[in-house]
Amino acid sequence: MDEKDLGADLASVLIPEGRLQDKIQELAAKVDADYAGQELLLVGVLKGAVMVMADLARALHSPVSMDWMAVSSYGSGTKSSGVVRILKDLDADIMGRHVLIVEDIVDSGLTLSWLVSNLRSRGPASLEICALLRKPDAIKTDIDVKYIGFDIPNEFVIGYGLDYAERYRNLPFVGTLAPHVYGGTTEPTAGEQQD
Ligand code: 5GP
Ligand code: MG
Ligand code: MG
Repeated sequence: MDEKDLGADLASVLIPEGRLQDKIQELAAKVDADYAGQELLLVGVLKGAVMVMADLARALHSPVSMDWMAVSSYGSGTKSSGVVRILKDLDADIMGRHVLIVEDIVDSGLTLSWLVSNLRSRGPASLEICALLRKPDAIKTDIDVKYIGFDIPNEFVIGYGLDYAERYRNLPFVGTLAPHVYGGTTEPTAGEQQD
């Protein structure tokens, strides 16, 4: 799917494919340098992190394993509440392992805060976060994202894993939607939502 197929649904391309791919290479080089000689476990958060996980993993030279978690956050309005439920847990025991959480975006940061304390209680040797995108609100959360791709404005974004009502995840770029697509508000209905 590209810009032409989207037509009037797309308001703007925020981060073109080339810039995303350059950034992934940059992040991978940092991760490789930091974990030299160590076996790394990448933990992707479904479904939003699928693209960044696939591209980052292929750009790394370090030996890695990949595992996945699916969580749902219970929220009302535009913000997740921090009440998180595990829909799919890790297959592997992470005790004593070097774990890197791979996420699409940090918005309020509540989902990641919960995930970090949950995974930390399992006794990993180390635990860090790599997130492709970060919104300004994330700064209010005391969460240390070691590897960050882009700081973006406080707008609802889609593409490269990120959805609106499960669509647009397959776009190779990150963009914003035209208001007519979502009826002028991106507020999800209150309730449980999978990332
Ligand atoms: P949190 O507010 O807990 O940091 O964000 C939780 C999840 O909401 C993110 O991991 C992401 O999946 C989703 N999310 C946050 N902001 C956006 C956005 O602008 N667009 C899309 N598609 N999803 C978002
Ligand atoms: Mg979503
Ligand atoms: Mg996510």
